[in-house]
Amino acid sequence: MSAGVDPPVCVLGLGLIGGSVLRAAVAAGRTAFGYNRSDGAVRAARGDGFDASTDLAAVLDRAAAASALIVIAVPMPAVDAVLAAIAEHAPDCPLTDVVSVKGAITAAVQAHDLSRRFVGGHPMAGTAESGWEASFAELFADAAWVVETHPGVDPEVWTQVARLAVLCGAVVVPAQAREHDLAVARVSHLPHVLAEALASAGANGGDLALGLAAGSFRDGTRVAGSAPELVRAMCEANSTALVHALDETLDALTQARSALADRSSVADLVTAGHQARQRYERFERWDISGITPGSPDWVNRMLAAGRSGGVLRKI
Ligand code: NAD
Repeated sequence: MSAGVDPPVCVLGLGLIGGSVLRAAVAAGRTAFGYNRSDGAVRAARGDGFDASTDLAAVLDRAAAASALIVIAVPMPAVDAVLAAIAEHAPDCPLTDVVSVKGAITAAVQAHDLSRRFVGGHPMAGTAESGWEASFAELFADAAWVVETHPGVDPEVWTQVARLAVLCGAVVVPAQAREHDLAVARVSHLPHVLAEALASAGANGGDLALGLAAGSFRDGTRVAGSAPELVRAMCEANSTALVHALDETLDALTQARSALADRSSVADLVTAGHQARQRYERFERWDISGITPGSPDWVNRMLAAGRSGGVLRKI
């Protein structure tokens, strides 16, 4: 790796995702350090041998001196304050994030005049746990990591962010912010909303229902075990796309309800769902190659590849 392409990594927020980025980067041999607001997580990170601090200004001054790649890894409601500190202490550093929505963070980055060196990111990996203690270096193994790609994006920062994703064990999916938000509304945020509704429906059946609950209830409600404030932060920051996905699902459920009430049949819903699940199981990624960031038309070529299942495994 050349020092010009791979600067140190500065992670802001050492929870499940940020902590895992710090662990994975260090495990892969990269210089990396981090900030967390709470003493407890910083003490735990230091105890595990990592370079961490509660002093945001000092961490950002250090990042500025090293031209470090800054990774914002806090929930969306905390992003504005973090961006204000970056604008004050390290405005010229390459900047990325791992936040689950891209439109809202792009707007926040613009409001702080930090767009020039920003390339958004989103690793599609997680567990229902939170905090430093839940983090682990292998979290991103073979996971998709969206790297925001749009006309005018800085190819050097884009490459740094893509290389960090690959370093962490992920595969890079190039996508625009808007198409990312529409897609994750369907495959991430909608599942959270449906899991919450399903968990409530089961619990409303009382202890007998809960006592009989087995695999389908456990699997369908798994993500309802996530910290409520994190679920709210990602769903509420992507409300337009999520409302659209929810409307489509409610229409399908309403039709299924009518068919069940009128004809005792759920055939249409079950057939369509089973076919869709089989399509998901058959889905295979393919490797993007031969597109160099910064070369003519590279953005459109990357986006076309990302839309059709292409991923970068090395860069
Ligand atoms: P987490 O709760 O494990 O960690 C959140 C971190 O942000 C902690 O270090 C916490 O101290 C810090 N933080 C919270 N509020 C803060 C504030 N006001 N000021 C400063 N720091 C603050 O959460 P996580 O799962 O690591 O999520 C972090 C980001 O990653 C979120 O933006 C989330 O959308 C995104 N993300 C989460 C998942 C997932 O499955 N959990 C997956 C991909 C991306």
